[in-house]
Amino acid sequence: MKFEDYHIAPEIKRNLEGLGFTKPTDIQYRSIPPILKGEDVLAIAQTGTGKTAAFAIPVVSILHERKMARRIEGIKCLVMVPTRELAIQITSVFEKIARYTSLKVFSVFGGVEQGPQIARLENGIDILIATPGRMFDLVSQGYIRLQRVEILILDEADHMLDLGFIKDIQDLMKFLPRKRQTLFFSATINEKIKKLAYSLVHNAIRIQISPKDPVARNIDHSVAFVGMDDKRFFLERLIREHPDSKILVFVRTKVRAERVMKALERVTISSQTIHGDKEQKDRLQVLNQFRNGEVKVLIATDVSARGIDIANVDYVVNYDLPEQPENYVHRVGRTGRGTQKGQAFSFCSPDEKPILAEIEQYLTKPIKVVYIDNNTYKETVDTSDAAQFDLKALMKEAEEFEMNRSRKKRKK
Ligand code: ADP
Ligand code: MG
Repeated sequence: MKFEDYHIAPEIKRNLEGLGFTKPTDIQYRSIPPILKGEDVLAIAQTGTGKTAAFAIPVVSILHERKMARRIEGIKCLVMVPTRELAIQITSVFEKIARYTSLKVFSVFGGVEQGPQIARLENGIDILIATPGRMFDLVSQGYIRLQRVEILILDEADHMLDLGFIKDIQDLMKFLPRKRQTLFFSATINEKIKKLAYSLVHNAIRIQISPKDPVARNIDHSVAFVGMDDKRFFLERLIREHPDSKILVFVRTKVRAERVMKALERVTISSQTIHGDKEQKDRLQVLNQFRNGEVKVLIATDVSARGIDIANVDYVVNYDLPEQPENYVHRVGRTGRGTQKGQAFSFCSPDEKPILAEIEQYLTKPIKVVYIDNNTYKETVDTSDAAQFDLKALMKEAEEFEMNRSRKKRKK
């Protein structure tokens, strides 16, 4: 099957080649026809398999053809996503696909001023990509009207319907026409959320691809047992052994992200962090630097685990194991995008073993273990610059202690 064979607008077809898309991926092959027919779809497919284009291609085609037939002002398609970075990324995919059409694509998200977003909204947007908080604000203030929405898409659907977002989504739904097409896309979903998704649409929805192994097959992933305080030595070693690689390191908290960056700084390895406490412009800047290779090591919290598509991420490191088992799938899924291969390593400390067990239960299979023999372990810890640094710090502390003691003695 080729894109050529689909009933999609020629303005889009000729564009796809330019994007390097010659044939559809599995999820595109299976979801484009029902979406074109106007059906509601719940699609589950592994990370990096082209889900964005799986909804963007048919949606752009539908809206383009409708717009050519009759011109109606107002937002026709609303795409909800969990983070600002993802909103920007999805907007750019829609813009590329809609390039030779007259459709206007725009995104709104929090963390930046509202004014400029409002000004643009008055310009007749067809496709709007948004994060829930800002979206809800703009809708309740009357800046965004949703009566004309024909298609609603929830990307990272399970996350959008989960605790943190469900209230905003349900509130937003009240503003949408009841008659509409609804599309849910994600790499993961559980039974509870699936039921919730079904309850939000009236027609039957089709489940597209439900892989037995939620981790994409181009990702080689393994776990190593490492003491909590030794993790930095192993990260340092991995970075030194792969100086040209792009490495994405996931940690549990914002504070840990900053701490790991500082620890690397002390051994002259430069890195950057991305997490919820950073200013929006800094987050975007860092992500772009990582994208273009200026930054080789990026330390992130789970805010960046979902959906972000960066080419050539060689390694994902779970410096801390994720507390939500499905986030394991999303984190390791930042490598091995499209046809690329990727590697993921998880560092598991003795305290984290129960979390590992939960993740393995979620994956329904054990994660490959990389055993580190005693010599290698000792060597990694001993030869690390960080260890040298610690040693120096310890010696200095000991010296100071001695000095203080002798001073005290002398005073007596
Ligand atoms: P997902 O949402 O499934 O995690 P994305 O939509 O972010 O995946 O796509 C992953 C990568 O695959 C992107 O870089 C995208 O450009 C590429 N891609 C998508 N569809 C195709 C295709 N048909 N042919 C080649 N590359 C594709
Ligand atoms: Mg995606």
